Amino acid sequence: MPVTDRPVTGMLEKAGARPGNHATSLLAEADRLMTVCNSCRYCEGLCAVFPAMEMRRAFPDGDLNYIANLCHGCGACYVDCQFSPPHEFDVNVPRVLAQVRADSYAAYAWPRAFAPMFARNGLAISIVAALSVAAFILGFAAWNDASVIFGTHVGPGAFYRLMPHNAMAGLFGFVFLYAIVALAMGVRAFWRDIGDPLGKALEPGALWQAIRDAGSLRYLDGGGIGCYNHDERPNDRRAFYHHMTFYGFGLCFASTCVATLYHYLLAREAPYPWWDLPVVLGTVGGIGLIFGPLGLMIAKLRRDRAMMDEARWGMDMAFIAMLFATSLTGLLLLVLRATPAMPLLLALHLGVVFALFLTMPYGKFVHGIYRFVALVRYAKEHRALTGGA
Ligand code: SF4
Ligand code: SF4
Repeated sequence: MPVTDRPVTGMLEKAGARPGNHATSLLAEADRLMTVCNSCRYCEGLCAVFPAMEMRRAFPDGDLNYIANLCHGCGACYVDCQFSPPHEFDVNVPRVLAQVRADSYAAYAWPRAFAPMFARNGLAISIVAALSVAAFILGFAAWNDASVIFGTHVGPGAFYRLMPHNAMAGLFGFVFLYAIVALAMGVRAFWRDIGDPLGKALEPGALWQAIRDAGSLRYLDGGGIGCYNHDERPNDRRAFYHHMTFYGFGLCFASTCVATLYHYLLAREAPYPWWDLPVVLGTVGGIGLIFGPLGLMIAKLRRDRAMMDEARWGMDMAFIAMLFATSLTGLLLLVLRATPAMPLLLALHLGVVFALFLTMPYGKFVHGIYRFVALVRYAKEHRALTGGA
């Protein structure tokens, strides 16, 4: 039976449909694939998935979620596999692991009541973003008179004429803290499920190895030849755009942190001059966050559908679009901050950033967190096997 005909509904599966010892038939399918691959082992040099698989003889659900989050979806094992469709073994590791991975995000979501947000994630995130932007525009209109809304504001404190600094800091501090707590609770559940006591999570050597592997996207290279997209010619474009996005996000976050320190330690209020550190960091990061998500979007549109989890297309695109919108509104605000367009652009930017923070634990953002945690686990296993080498 081809994989598309198999009952692999995963997250949406009704209670009671539990094939074998697994919670879903999707996990049962992943178990079947790992059992086939464990007999074959042709792909063992491609990434961390296959060595992690080889350390096991059975695949409980937690281990399958761990292995799925190790997969970077490079597609090499699909192209190399002699058992991929139309072979009757129907081995499609990237696609099934992408489906398991997406289900794991919902399985570990905190609080549980918000797990259904992953089911129609594109729609959910679009609604939250639209409401958030509308709330900031209406809030600005309600709290300020027309001369402020349509006026030009320049110099230190210009932004705070639209919204007091304490209100802005309190609102964003709260939503950021909430996102951190929700993500931490998800990681806690994930780490427990993949079978390690919580107290043993931090092993400096393994942590450092995982940081290096995540920072270099080590396993997005198809074993050294690149990532497969729409044909059988691999390249490094997907890794390149991932890097731009990841480091662009990091620089924008660093810009916000430096601006916060300026405000509270040096009593210097935004907006800052072009040459100042928060602006430089934000501009360079913002450019990365424009071209990185754009490149990822194009790469996704051109990928071979056979390797993808098409049901989660909306989740992937929503996250990419949110990053793009965050950067676009931020850069426009920077360029037009001394014009009458500033109040509207500030409302747009704050609305998008607020929605991004609020939906972080319930969207594609979590893939980076769980992948990093899986890499820590893998580094620990590998070091235990090789004596720390
Ligand atoms: S993906 Fe195919 S070739 Fe690779 S290990 Fe599995 S069965 Fe073997
Ligand atoms: S990272 Fe690439 S080679 Fe490894 S399992 Fe995923 S798709 Fe296959």
